[in-house]
Amino acid sequence: MSNIRIGIVGYGNLGRGVELAIRQNPDTELAAVFTRRDPSSLKILTEGVGVYSVNDVADFKDKIDVLILCGGSATDLPVQTPKFAELFNVIDSFDTHARIPEHFANVDAAAKKGGNVSVISVGWDPGMFSVQRLYGSCILPEGKDYTFWGKGVSQGHSDAIRRVEGVADGKQYTVPVQAAMDAVRNGEDPDLTTRQKHTRECFVVAEDGADKAKIEETIKTMPNYFSDYDTTVNFISQDELNKNHSGIPHGGFVFRSGKTGVNGETRHIIEYSLKLGSNPEFTSSILVAYARAAVRMKNEGMTGCKTVFDIAPAYLSPKSGDELRASML
Ligand code: NAP
Repeated sequence: MSNIRIGIVGYGNLGRGVELAIRQNPDTELAAVFTRRDPSSLKILTEGVGVYSVNDVADFKDKIDVLILCGGSATDLPVQTPKFAELFNVIDSFDTHARIPEHFANVDAAAKKGGNVSVISVGWDPGMFSVQRLYGSCILPEGKDYTFWGKGVSQGHSDAIRRVEGVADGKQYTVPVQAAMDAVRNGEDPDLTTRQKHTRECFVVAEDGADKAKIEETIKTMPNYFSDYDTTVNFISQDELNKNHSGIPHGGFVFRSGKTGVNGETRHIIEYSLKLGSNPEFTSSILVAYARAAVRMKNEGMTGCKTVFDIAPAYLSPKSGDELRASML
């Protein structure tokens, strides 16, 4: 069987991660990279593969089996995914949870029009965590869900810090509260407020002569980002930030705490956890597995938009059904 030919649209953290993940999946190959920037300004890792303008994607209709869209969720994907879904099978990692229904409808219409398969909101949250939440609620219908994120870097909160007057650079970590997780693991089914679930840790490089007390106050009281959390602000040097905080780690926990038995006397806890050395590299690995699924589903005659809920696990694996049943069931 010939390899699955993948095109990457957008070459940021996820774009680079997809390129790396393709190297670990011998049934896939990188066909082309597309960017909105000057293609000659990008250096990619794979020799012999071209970088092209995003305006030329349509020329590759017969050379690419699936496009992995690696643009940002805020403004890129709402436009790019429906646009390319009509021409290609596509995968995206759209993570603005509140707007997923609207994004799904737009992509579904385009994919059906073009007779292609699209998979949206692939990643770990939304993505693998969503699958765990769904499995948990189906298996233990009487119970409670808990999701904790971290410890990890929140790009949005780090950006928010960097926009504060007097801040030269900064990084923000979301940290789950240990006592809250312990209570869930103990089967206490606690009702937890936002503040009780996570804390926020900021590492900030102040500009020379900046008013640090004012920076700290501005961060801690910032609505939507920090005011609902216990936040600590640590001032450090740029060297220290570069040395100790340059990675993009993340992770988290999904719990389902449930009861069975005549009077609910039997307790069960499902726990799924991720400790990710690199959020984008991990997310990209998931994107490539779902790209394989999209191509297979299209080859079986399916069309339209799907999410992780619609895709049976066997479609993700390069192994056949026989091999999976013999080795993993
Ligand atoms: P990113 O590095 O900011 O890249 C986004 C886009 O910005 C790229 O596709 C690229 O498009 C452009 N870009 C990148 N570097 C640039 C530079 N130096 N100068 C100018 N433009 C540049 O974002 P990311 O970390 O890859 O994340 C993309 C999205 O993935 C996020 O918005 C997030 O919503 C989503 N995500 C989802 C999950 C999940 O679990 N579902 C997890 C992680 C991330 P061009 O090449 O076209 O310029």
